[in-house]
Amino acid sequence: MKLTLATNNKGKVKEFKEILSPLGFEVVSQSEAGIDIEVEETGTSFEENAVLKAKAVYEISKTYVIADDSGLEVDVLDKKPGIYSARYEGLKTPHERNMRILEQLDGVDDYKRTARFVCTICFIRDNGEIETVRGTCEGKIGYEEKGTNGFGYDPIFVYGDRTLAQMSESEKNSISHRGNAIKELLKII
Ligand code: IMP
Repeated sequence: MKLTLATNNKGKVKEFKEILSPLGFEVVSQSEAGIDIEVEETGTSFEENAVLKAKAVYEISKTYVIADDSGLEVDVLDKKPGIYSARYEGLKTPHERNMRILEQLDGVDDYKRTARFVCTICFIRDNGEIETVRGTCEGKIGYEEKGTNGFGYDPIFVYGDRTLAQMSESEKNSISHRGNAIKELLKII
């Protein structure tokens, strides 16, 4: 059973290959499948964007397909940056985006600093049937960047008493939005 991942992100490709290969899937990345498309993320939700990306690849590959879309929701910012997490307020680097969020939460009490990472995975079967699953990771926005592991908003996202950037990769995977979405995916696959 051939499964095409609608991404070329090396970390995601590695993670999905490790999990899905033992289930009998021959997992290939979009570029390994020779599919050279860049899908515009014009959806208004993580689900819509994941479905857009998966459908575009399925139309070409006609194999099983997986696409995901993820981001950070900060409650006091009306769930921003949300689907715009990768390009929040046009800021170019993760550090700039982290500093902007910390500024925007300046003076906000601890109990109001709640936030979550969200990951939606769209799974299309080789017969074209579409399903989506969602995983979240609930936490709080800290007061400064801490830790050097991970990527993106990890240094300001506090889970328990540490940021995700202070956790090892396997620790993060066991509690992360992507890890939780993958657990949901495995229930329906
Ligand atoms: P994408 O779905 O991989 O395109 O991720 C969108 C954006 O959400 C990333 O560029 C990051 O800014 C943010 N993001 C998603 N997952 C994580 C995570 O696990 N840690 C930190 N930031 C994340």
